[in-house]
Amino acid sequence: MEIYTIGFENQLKILRQKALPIENINDRTIKLAEDMIATMIEAKGIGLAAPQVGIGERIFTVKIGEDAPLIFINPEITFTSAKLSTYEEGCLSIPEQYAELERPQAIQIQAWNNRGRAFNLEATGLLARVIQHELDHLDGILFIDHISKQKRNRILGKFIFAS
Ligand SMILES: [Zn+2]
Repeated sequence: MEIYTIGFENQLKILRQKALPIENINDRTIKLAEDMIATMIEAKGIGLAAPQVGIGERIFTVKIGEDAPLIFINPEITFTSAKLSTYEEGCLSIPEQYAELERPQAIQIQAWNNRGRAFNLEATGLLARVIQHELDHLDGILFIDHISKQKRNRILGKFIFAS
């Protein structure tokens, strides 16, 4: 799958849209999740949200290190810790740009997997970080929205809006 980046106006438009819930988890959803996982691994990413491959649906995938890939469909965060942590983030849709930003250190999330089963997950550290970053994508939010305008403009200035 092609990874959409902010360097193309038509792709940025998709990245900025709010994704819609998946009504039925079926063979098509399973195929989409498998394709997203393969794309994420090939791009050496640790998370990928459907809008990043041009699909406006509420699904994202995560794979950290040797852990099995995780699939989150129609995810909702049910708890965020008051304690924040600072971490340097990057994004496959904003290639080669990184910035430190604060997010809650721990979260709880409810979602459905590709078998249509609901699950709850508690996450801390890097996993909590990636989940929050990917969930943002489903609402059209990019990590650069969480940094100062000055830093954001410096990053945006590196991209030429081609078409
Ligand atoms: Zn991203």
